[in-house]
Amino acid sequence: MTAMADLDLSDSGPTLSIVVPAYNEAEVLPLLHARLCAVMERLGEPWELVLVNDGSTDGTLAAMAALHRADPRVGYVNLSRNFGKEIALTAGLDHARGEAVIVIDADLQDPPELIPDLVAGWREGFDTVYAQRRQREGETWLKKATAAGFYRLMQRLSGVRLPPDTGDFRLMSRRVVVALSQLREHHRFMKGLFAWVGYPSKAILYDRAPREAGTTKWNYWKLWNFALEGITSFTVMPLKLATYLGLAIGLFAAVYLVIVVVKTLLVGSSVAGYPSLMAVVLFMGGAQLVTLGVMGEYLGRVFNESKQRPLYFVERYEAPDGEDDADED
Ligand code: UDP
Ligand code: MG
Repeated sequence: MTAMADLDLSDSGPTLSIVVPAYNEAEVLPLLHARLCAVMERLGEPWELVLVNDGSTDGTLAAMAALHRADPRVGYVNLSRNFGKEIALTAGLDHARGEAVIVIDADLQDPPELIPDLVAGWREGFDTVYAQRRQREGETWLKKATAAGFYRLMQRLSGVRLPPDTGDFRLMSRRVVVALSQLREHHRFMKGLFAWVGYPSKAILYDRAPREAGTTKWNYWKLWNFALEGITSFTVMPLKLATYLGLAIGLFAAVYLVIVVVKTLLVGSSVAGYPSLMAVVLFMGGAQLVTLGVMGEYLGRVFNESKQRPLYFVERYEAPDGEDDADED
């Protein structure tokens, strides 16, 4: 089944869709569902829960199927393999039918209790209402420092203003979801894409809790690649860097040439200079390799995008079958 073509996104959907990408989250899913139910029932709007199983290797799929059987508001999308969080999220957005869509992590680091505030922001007329962390509990100073540096760098390099301390936890109106669904690039830097589509947006401050259960799938290698993804998908500045580095070195070389020639004419030449020669050769070699590497990063992405493959394949899609306030048993 293809993702979007078969879906009817007409106005038959509920008011709110909650999209949850999940990779090996079997333990937390029932907890998440219980907390969402408590919050949503108080809110009293028709809603659906769209779970996305991103090729989990534990009992996540079975947990989703059980929730779907027990609660008609729960639907799930089973991807054909692990595609990564960004694509799993996109699959969820493609299958969500609500007038507004809320994205939340499965691990309960984003408090579902904030959803009424997000919805209130949407009712006020904002298209995107994102949750912004007030502080980060249970995270190392190194992760905090690298995150802060990254946001500053991104803002400098690309024109897009990324709100700091903001994850994927947010509410988006239908038109934002439609806009996002048109961005089918494979190198998906979601934070950037969210910001890039624009529309009026508003932040809601909250305190982020440590993970409820399970372990984080992030490590520094992944974070580095995430940062690389962000920079390369939103700015070509690193490519320009080579031009200016080359210009600066060329200028320096020209001045140095004049000095060497004049010095040789005045005092004759000596064959000394092995260390400086080595230094220059090694520096130039390094600069050239780095430049090639930067070009390679972009070329690789052009290659990947040029294949125009579908973003993901759906192994099975179970739509929520009862509309809104059908009884739970
Ligand atoms: N996730 C996913 N596919 C992956 C990795 C993660 O769908 O390949 C989901 C995961 O189940 C969770 C969310 O993405 O719901 C965030 O993942 P995690 O908690 O590991 O990231 P962090 O909170 O550290 O950013
Ligand atoms: Mg998490």
